[in-house]
Amino acid sequence: MKKLALLGATGSIGTQVLEIVKNNPDYRIKSIAFGNNVVLGRKIIEEFQPEFVAVRNDTIKEDIFRQFPQLKIGVGEAGLIEAATFVAPGDYLINALVGVLGLVPTVAAIEKGINILLANKETLVVGGEIIMPLVKKHGVMLLPIDSEHSAIFQCLHCGKKEEISQLILTASGGPFLKKSREDLKKVSLAQALAHPNWKMGPKITIDSATMVNKGLEIIEAHHLFAVPYDRLRALIHPESIIHSLVEFTDRTVMAQMSLPDMRLPIQYALTYPQRVANALFPAFDFSKGWNLHLLPMDMDRFPLVKWAYEVGRAGGIMPAVYNAANEAAVSLFLNNKITFLEIEKIIIQAVENAVNVSNPSLEQLIKVSRQVNEQILQSYEVENG
Ligand code: NDP
Ligand code: MG
Repeated sequence: MKKLALLGATGSIGTQVLEIVKNNPDYRIKSIAFGNNVVLGRKIIEEFQPEFVAVRNDTIKEDIFRQFPQLKIGVGEAGLIEAATFVAPGDYLINALVGVLGLVPTVAAIEKGINILLANKETLVVGGEIIMPLVKKHGVMLLPIDSEHSAIFQCLHCGKKEEISQLILTASGGPFLKKSREDLKKVSLAQALAHPNWKMGPKITIDSATMVNKGLEIIEAHHLFAVPYDRLRALIHPESIIHSLVEFTDRTVMAQMSLPDMRLPIQYALTYPQRVANALFPAFDFSKGWNLHLLPMDMDRFPLVKWAYEVGRAGGIMPAVYNAANEAAVSLFLNNKITFLEIEKIIIQAVENAVNVSNPSLEQLIKVSRQVNEQILQSYEVENG
């Protein structure tokens, strides 16, 4: 039986993890963490009976405690660490939190010898230089849930590491693929939230519209697969069927294809190295005929991808600055405080103003993330949290 800690249980990825785990005697949810969604949190506790739950604040804790007096409950960032490390060495942490918040609990779990199934890409973007050596040191597995990285991980079974020529990540292009820069000045929050192919949490949906998501994923791939930035590419693939490609040195290109359904990479991470049939997944219908496109990524159209390469290559604290500025800008946009194109302006300004520090500690990365985030929110008179 696989024992699981699940952070972000009430989110888009978290609830899909629970769908896979539901009624499956091979899995046991030992601990969960969630934020504000108490109604769903309660339902999950009733159904999956975790022994430990981490919640956002004391008010939610009291609320949950009244209904479940036997339950161990943690609060805030300390609670997230307790939830992440509630399982034993050799067990699994599924990190489906959103944002850099997921970094410290992941480090704590790795240090306890817990395997990591990672949806929370911000963890690797900010802390990749620390996380990957730690994974090696503690001999744990770190498997990607992000669909592009799951695709690359699967394609890599066809060759050796030294035979990789390039990794090609696909991007759907999001809701604004056909809009000009001029059109983008006027797009609304509702339009940005209407992703054509995927139903996801609000932050990653906006990241897909700005293409920051692909920028973050390029940095994530660099750390996960130890491939330099000049051998990482992004292409637009509006159909979201080819989830990514690997070119090997003999010019063979392997692609992983499946219908756009996050339950697939989630299940693959859970059952790896096995593949398991699941009645929840519809078959790929070849009789329909598929018209699939791969188009170049336009870096002028999507400048934040270019900036992701810049901060990725610079390393140090720069990816943390890019990520924190994005987290702040997206939250401002989601709260109708700024326009869509201002997200871009805020990120570029934060990166241009930052002075890099090489080999930062975990504490420095967290500190700089907080500072950049707070500075931006304060300049719009918005309180953090
Ligand atoms: P959601 O916003 O849907 O879910 C985020 C989860 O984190 C929720 O359970 C939320 O709780 C919880 N959370 C947020 N803040 C806190 C906090 N302070 N304390 C405790 N819990 C907190 O995000 P997604 O599921 O879309 O994304 C999760 C991660 O996976 C992101 O890094 C994203 O980039 C990545 N990813 C997502 C994909 C998708 O299809 N959704 C695809 C590929 C990657 P609550 O809702 O209760 O407040
Ligand atoms: Mg992805």
